[in-house]
Amino acid sequence: MIDKSKIKVIIWDVDGTLYQSDPAVGQVFEESRRELLEKYWHRPYDSELKAVFHAFKQKHKSTTKTLAVMTGLDIKDITRYTESKLRVRRRLSRDPKLIKLFTKLKHLHHLVLRNGGRDETLNILKLLGLNQIKVSDRHELGPFLKVWGAVDNFHQTKPHLDVFDRAKLWIYKHLFWQSDQKISHQDINQIAGQVLMVGDKPEVDLKPAKEVGFQTAWAWADPKTVDKPDYVDVCLPTIYDLVKIFNP
Ligand SMILES: [Mg+2]
Repeated sequence: MIDKSKIKVIIWDVDGTLYQSDPAVGQVFEESRRELLEKYWHRPYDSELKAVFHAFKQKHKSTTKTLAVMTGLDIKDITRYTESKLRVRRRLSRDPKLIKLFTKLKHLHHLVLRNGGRDETLNILKLLGLNQIKVSDRHELGPFLKVWGAVDNFHQTKPHLDVFDRAKLWIYKHLFWQSDQKISHQDINQIAGQVLMVGDKPEVDLKPAKEVGFQTAWAWADPKTVDKPDYVDVCLPTIYDLVKIFNP
């Protein structure tokens, strides 16, 4: 169960969460996977190579990380490769319902945590029209105090716990801690319950979020049709339903 009275901060996943589908994304990932694996393994991306990819993806969860493991490249190189293709092929447009959602949730602090580069993350948020919401000069873009592309900012991808621990420490330092205060591990863990992670991939976004103490919301998951894992506090049939939690 979610404890909405405690929530002061929301961390948002982007792809599949703030927008549901862009055919270009699937195509580019499929294409990049084929090109990178064929180049490294000197053989066609056939059923055998696909099976190996899926076996490692099971373990590493993130496609970027799996490709890095299977090609020996750095996650930054893989991200640059896919995102340079995506930059010119994206088909995203302004989402008035999403803008309305963020306008209604202005009283909370919002942060973005996407598995990718920071520039492309900013690009997506602008295409969705979220830069049009003005809050203050302290905000990096629109309603977002901080916009993290995990690959650039944390040199890791979700679901690695480094990413979530670093987000938790940033939140503690910048939103809760005062410089004359003692730093305590107990306080850091206590503030974690005031953070809500919203994402569409339970194992990538929500399982590690719960491990560091955040509350969790599974986006685009209808509670009538999905099996809710224990680490998920609430299921949202659409992302726009999040507002109902705060203003029932
Ligand atoms: Mg996602």
